[in-house]
Amino acid sequence: MSNEPTPQAKPGWLVTPTYGRVGPSPLRPTLKEVLVEWFDAISFWKDATRLPPALYALYHLATFAVFVYFLIHFFSVVAVLSVVGIGVFVGSVYNTVWYHRYCSHQAFKFRSVWFARLFLWTNPISFREESYVIPHRIHHSKSDEPGDPYGPHLGWLGSYLATETQQKMNRNISSAEYDRLARSLDHIGLVKNSYEQFQRTGSVENIWHYGARALVANLFWSAVGYAIAGWPGVLAFISGVFLFTFVVRDFNFRGHGSLFGTKKRGMPVNQVIYGIIAGEWHENHHAHPRLARSGLVWWQVDLPYWIIKLMRACGMVTQYNSPDGSSPLKLAQTDPVAT
Ligand SMILES: [Zn+2]
Ligand SMILES: [Zn+2]
Repeated sequence: MSNEPTPQAKPGWLVTPTYGRVGPSPLRPTLKEVLVEWFDAISFWKDATRLPPALYALYHLATFAVFVYFLIHFFSVVAVLSVVGIGVFVGSVYNTVWYHRYCSHQAFKFRSVWFARLFLWTNPISFREESYVIPHRIHHSKSDEPGDPYGPHLGWLGSYLATETQQKMNRNISSAEYDRLARSLDHIGLVKNSYEQFQRTGSVENIWHYGARALVANLFWSAVGYAIAGWPGVLAFISGVFLFTFVVRDFNFRGHGSLFGTKKRGMPVNQVIYGIIAGEWHENHHAHPRLARSGLVWWQVDLPYWIIKLMRACGMVTQYNSPDGSSPLKLAQTDPVAT
């Protein structure tokens, strides 16, 4: 694993929101400003590069419709447990292990980039990895400051809709900046655009590659669901993906503030539910962003960490950053980075 810190993220990699760069309270955008910003982010009729966020919003609504249909027509304890189980699986494996610990923070290293591609081509969330990683690195470097792409300072709806608004890439960065940005995503195994293609599409990943792998992943998991339980299995899979995406959008707000009055709004807090279901002990994570493990005391269950350890035991993973010294990297070298 490289001793190089992850490149410093730049707020300038994203377009400034239509309401400007707001910070912590009281500089919160109004409801109208949040909605104007969201419509701007999906306005593919004005700017074709906004088509992926628009399609993603549509996908979110479509999975919501399936979720409602499935629960009305197939309601049972088994159906509910299946949807929750699928949501936890997707959240732990593809959100925490893949997007968060690997893609964003490089907390561990695969033996081969082909293992990364295995995640890429089976990722059922269908959200572009770059759209997670780039805003997330900015989020760590500007937590609750102007320029943080999501968090309580935007309000609940502003955070919920940030999944689309955080995709507004600045296509006017220089060629050298683009090279640096693209290099920081090398470990993900994407087919990447040239600088000229990036200027046209606003995407580091080749858009056809993205479309093809999102389709393959959805067909693969639908086939698994069908093989297990027929069409209800397919509907359960889609419902589980919706449940996960709803929870993660909500987490952007709730995971960084408190509705329970124990923390100052805007501070990351360890939310027990998110920790148990997806290993997101977020206060620990903000303190040690590059660790492969966020549950730091015995009762903080961290399923994603055990998945990483399992991959290490299988030989898929060669190294991971650990607080117990099992990694050659020392915390002092890995932690203070603004990633
Ligand atoms: Zn955070
Ligand atoms: Zn993080």
